[in-house]
Amino acid sequence: MTPGVVIAGAGQAGFQAAMSLRTGGYEGTVTLIGEEPYLPYQRPPLSKGYMAGKQDIEATALRPEAYYKSHLIDLIVGETIVGIDGAGRSVQLASGSGIPFETLVLATGARNRMLPVPGAELDGVHYLRTRDEAVKIKGRLEAASNIVVIGGGFIGLELAAAARASGSRSVTVFEAQPRLMPRVVAPVISEFYRQVHTEQGVAIVLGAMVTGIRGDGTVRDVLLADGTVYPADLVLVGIGVIPNQELGERLGIAGANGFVVNEYLQTEDERIYAIGDCAEHPNRFASGRFAANLSPGDRVRIESVQNAVDQARCVAAAIVGKPAPYDAVPWFWTDQFDLKLQMAGLSGGCDEAVVRGDIESHKFSVFYFKESHLGAVDSVNRPADHMVARKLLAGGTRLTPDQAADLNLNLKELGL
Ligand code: FAD
Repeated sequence: MTPGVVIAGAGQAGFQAAMSLRTGGYEGTVTLIGEEPYLPYQRPPLSKGYMAGKQDIEATALRPEAYYKSHLIDLIVGETIVGIDGAGRSVQLASGSGIPFETLVLATGARNRMLPVPGAELDGVHYLRTRDEAVKIKGRLEAASNIVVIGGGFIGLELAAAARASGSRSVTVFEAQPRLMPRVVAPVISEFYRQVHTEQGVAIVLGAMVTGIRGDGTVRDVLLADGTVYPADLVLVGIGVIPNQELGERLGIAGANGFVVNEYLQTEDERIYAIGDCAEHPNRFASGRFAANLSPGDRVRIESVQNAVDQARCVAAAIVGKPAPYDAVPWFWTDQFDLKLQMAGLSGGCDEAVVRGDIESHKFSVFYFKESHLGAVDSVNRPADHMVARKLLAGGTRLTPDQAADLNLNLKELGL
């Protein structure tokens, strides 16, 4: 086989890299290898439409099988890559064979962070990352009457919303921090989501540290640090993920938080790229500095469809001879009940948050600034703000906090 591009991981990023190579005119072999035994699929519906009973699991597939054949993409699923021979330019599969590459794209994603408490291994404790896990959770939702969700981040809250929306069962969310989605949104949004979930019948318990799960083979209750015991027959854990980067350890390209890549998404070995959830990359939005010359601290690993797709496109372009530094505006969304929260930029490094719109009407945005420079915008049911925000952030258009709050100012007129 002539060595071409091997893509390790057939998730959102790996699929997009294969597709963009073909649409970009790449004529060599493209081999897309994934350990899950399914056609590449989208994860967002797993906690939303599928979990709420509105979408079939098969509908999560990114493309039908025929697509890969017609685009000459060698798709190998149900196969794990267990090693990379950097000098010999090949990957080793668990089944024993090796596949040579000229260029390797690492798109291995991330896996669930496990809850480190006694009882976490009991039957009835579930995590959600994969299609298999989603099907298992869905299968148990129907019969569950006391659902405990551990973690008040996106996945936990989406699961709580889907569980409530699809049945009148008790749903309780435990979040260790004093507010919901604490890493990513302003306190005003955390409080708004707490209220909406509460109105919808989800019990939200903040500052709640889970210290154990108990049961006799199957989960029976959840124990908190303050001694409280909550009955539970289904426990859903969403406490974050860790990047799958063990393949890079021997090559020295694995870092503290993902494969370490430069602005072209290349590892130290320039023929090995890393993209998507597994890649820690330089990003001007990372620290709220928005500077052209990034400092070593301006690095981030982003878990989003946008990041996976845009990084895949960036790498495919480089492979077909059109390299450009990765510089896309990060964006993300989450659906809970009738709320669509869309986020543009990264608010982590920002020091001021300004509300635009009316929180009561469930339609508002929060504009984040760092030293008066716009760094991020989170929009709840205001999709037009989100689209404008992406353009403002991409172009570096000046916007003051006063302008952001002024509903008489049409943001679209800011020279976009
Ligand atoms: P993945 O999609 O994780 O794909 C990596 C693949 O590589 C996996 O299939 C893995 O099994 C495989 N793999 C790993 N190691 C190996 C190996 N050694 N050999 C072979 N294969 C390997 N993002 C949004 O922007 N909006 C949302 O609303 C949203 N909702 C989400 C809901 C859920 C339930 C989840 C889990 C994620 C959600 N995300 C959302 C995040 C988004 O899905 C991820 O950021 C995206 O899937 C990342 O794509 P990826 O290709 O980097 O990683």
